[in-house]
Amino acid sequence: MRMHSYDDEVDQFATAVFDWARRRASEDLTGLELGTPRSAAELAEATGPMITAGGVGPMEALRVFTDVLEPACLSIDHPGFLAFVPQAPTEVAILADLAVSATSIYSGSFLEGGGVVHAENQVLSWLAGLAGFPDTAGGCFVQGGTNGNLSAIVAARQDAERRRGARPPRWTIICGAEAHASVAEMARVADAHVVTVAGDRLTGPAVAAAIDEVGAANVAAVVATAGSTNLGRVDDLAGVSAACREREVWLHVDGAYGLAGLLAPSVRGRFAGLEHADSFIVDPHKWLFAPFDVCALVYRDPAAGRAAHTQHGQYLDVLTESGDWNPSDFGVQLSRRARGMPLWFSLVAHGTDAYAEAIETNLALARRTAELLEASPHLELLEQPELSVVAFTRPGWGEPEYTAWSEARLKDGQCFVVPSKHKGTPILRLCFINPRTTEEQVQAILDTLA
Ligand SMILES: *Cc1c(COP(=O)(O)O)cnc(C)c1O
Repeated sequence: MRMHSYDDEVDQFATAVFDWARRRASEDLTGLELGTPRSAAELAEATGPMITAGGVGPMEALRVFTDVLEPACLSIDHPGFLAFVPQAPTEVAILADLAVSATSIYSGSFLEGGGVVHAENQVLSWLAGLAGFPDTAGGCFVQGGTNGNLSAIVAARQDAERRRGARPPRWTIICGAEAHASVAEMARVADAHVVTVAGDRLTGPAVAAAIDEVGAANVAAVVATAGSTNLGRVDDLAGVSAACREREVWLHVDGAYGLAGLLAPSVRGRFAGLEHADSFIVDPHKWLFAPFDVCALVYRDPAAGRAAHTQHGQYLDVLTESGDWNPSDFGVQLSRRARGMPLWFSLVAHGTDAYAEAIETNLALARRTAELLEASPHLELLEQPELSVVAFTRPGWGEPEYTAWSEARLKDGQCFVVPSKHKGTPILRLCFINPRTTEEQVQAILDTLA
């Protein structure tokens, strides 16, 4: 029973953990370091073998974590971390996650986790309302956008089969050229064929033509992107949704990154047409300032999600026959932590205006960065940012120069910006989702590219 007891050693550990978490959550811009990646061999050398028959004690485990492991990870919430889609969780969200983790709440079912499921549903209803979905819409929080896209695609496919009373030899998913990599990956998991529509963004006519060519009976879903990862582009959701409705094809909108923009008056209009979609996702761990790992998945008609995802087993009948709202019924998951709670805490604590303001701060910095790039003699803006991703090139540079520059910036701890590509050409992109990032920082980064 040694392991399951709260003794003096554990009490000391508790204090140390809380102290460390408080310090990490309160580190300001200057105190927070970007981090130093280390090779697997260096880490092996630094930790030595840690897993032993007798154990090393919790304080030693914490020492290795704080002194060796954590510093070898990049601080994705560092204001200079502008690669990929970073993260800037609010302090309340981080600490709330700690509180939720201290419980053994099972939030797969309402019977067991009704309290937190209620709270999570408040957040999902709020998101559904922002999207213009009906009051009856709902879904669940899953692990990430990849799982959210998979869950929606599977629900769409099953719903298509139910409505049409037949299934084709192989289902087709239609998406745009800017769709996230997870769409193709999840189509592979679902053994669906992917038709990629060429062009900068999906439009109504292009989607109509693609559906007609494949035959609507073969299409499981159209996946539109509301904020592409690479460039922040938003598909023409009004046109795409009209084309889908006319052909009775499910429209899923992947807004893992971009749909947080629904809160920002300056870009909200770009998402017109979302209200006609059948499902959408948005990742709170991206631009809604929650820690990893969480994706909100919302269905216009939750019954379609439930039909596709409810697990049946004699040991589960007590849950499935209850008629309760069980989050596990709406996605590819059963056991789940209450991963929507950090966002709930922060949203409830700060109010929606603070979210809108933070997102507008990022959008304003993206626009300002575009101006700085246009004024720069040595850099070229790729296109006006639609959301908070700004892409550009340094004429004369190829991949080796971009990579060397990127590595040098990480080494000196200034920023983490990695080269991407657009139509095969290397580009740099800055993704602003951290309200702590300043114009001065951006200017300093651009200066290093002279
Ligand atoms: C990040 C992203 C995803 C994948 O989300 P994960 O949470 O990383 O699984 C899907 N679609 C888009 C548009 C994204 O930006």
